[in-house]
Amino acid sequence: MKKPFVTKAQLEKIIEKYPTPFHIYDERGIRERARALNKAFAWNKGFREYFAVKATPNPVILDILKSEGCGVDCSSLTELMMSDRVGFKGEEIMFSSNATPAADFVEARRLGAIINLDDFTHIDFLEKVTGSIPKTICCRYNPGGDFKISTQIMGSPSEAKYGMTEEQLIEAFRILKEKGAEKFGIHAFLSSNNTNNEYYPTLAGVLFRLAVKLKELTGISVSFINLSGGVGVPYLPDAEPADIGVIGDGVHRVYDEILVPAGLDDVAIYTELGRYMLAPNGMLITKAIHEKHIYKEYIGCDACAANLMRPAMYGAYHHITVMGKENEPSDHMYDVTGGLCENNDKFAIDRMLPKIDIGDILAIHDTGAHGFAMGYNYNGKLRSSELLLHEDGSVELIRRAETPDDYFATLGVTKYFK
Ligand SMILES: *Cc1c(COP(=O)(O)O)cnc(C)c1O
Repeated sequence: MKKPFVTKAQLEKIIEKYPTPFHIYDERGIRERARALNKAFAWNKGFREYFAVKATPNPVILDILKSEGCGVDCSSLTELMMSDRVGFKGEEIMFSSNATPAADFVEARRLGAIINLDDFTHIDFLEKVTGSIPKTICCRYNPGGDFKISTQIMGSPSEAKYGMTEEQLIEAFRILKEKGAEKFGIHAFLSSNNTNNEYYPTLAGVLFRLAVKLKELTGISVSFINLSGGVGVPYLPDAEPADIGVIGDGVHRVYDEILVPAGLDDVAIYTELGRYMLAPNGMLITKAIHEKHIYKEYIGCDACAANLMRPAMYGAYHHITVMGKENEPSDHMYDVTGGLCENNDKFAIDRMLPKIDIGDILAIHDTGAHGFAMGYNYNGKLRSSELLLHEDGSVELIRRAETPDDYFATLGVTKYFK
């Protein structure tokens, strides 16, 4: 069963100061995950997690991860700027972008970030817009076809816009070397939210074999292999979580099988996990403000899909705890909705829950990654605040809620300002 990392009494106190809705993050849980990941890959000398900033773009969260030895993976100019402000330096920053604007490459070079090229044509583009090719470079691989774990299809890289074909990647390495690159890496992201402990080892097998082939064909020994993100979390209460220790051991096994015999025994393993690190360590807290009885039973909340888009966008399940009613029977069926003028603005459909009364606090679980981050302003809805529960139990406001002034601030015609 999923248990909130704060009690009802704690939340009531927090809400006195910071009104709902808000996302709240658990510092202890974040540190525990970072430590478990680093331990699982401690066998690899150069291992580093580059946290995917897009999952939870808040500097305070990034700072916690920094103190646990993580770097950051950025995909845009502003994510690079945020990482710079937190104090990430040089190769502590990975830049994995696609359809990349020139200004983003320029900033990545200024910071000395590792650039992960999404496409063959980006070699020329990067050289043109930044004046040279950096000494350290990474190329993103797309093997095409279907990506399978044993016989099960886990994704279709042939339908994905990312990465280079094998032929392009081999040619890219030759050209990059000619143009002065000295330290090389490869990267691939082939399946999302995958809780199968064989995901990383299988992906590692694909990339490790590619590394061996690259060495044979180009003479280049890669320095690092980036397994990217994709390790999942169980959103359903009875789903099996991924076991990061088993995953680390699995990658180690494949490393010894494929890389070591090929003389590639000092390759650093990198990861870019977002969801795995943060999703369970965040919750969206909202209040029931209406109940409605028509053909179905509805609970209307003060949060909406603009605060958490995953249910509306992907039909994603997010577990809901009615705070203080954990031990009551789940004998009421509800659609739990937000107030957008969109019928898909539902956090839950036909969900069995304890009887909800107006004013009840609902904790929507596993919103710590790709939650607040995907927020938007449709219907003039404002982004919520973000709070951090520290290890000592204190709560810090790490982003205030947007105000109507923020919403109007970007208008071009000043007479509408107030
Ligand atoms: C989104 C993304 C990640 C993080 O993915 P998760 O599913 O959150 O682990 C990592 N790397 C790249 C390049 C991404 O686009």
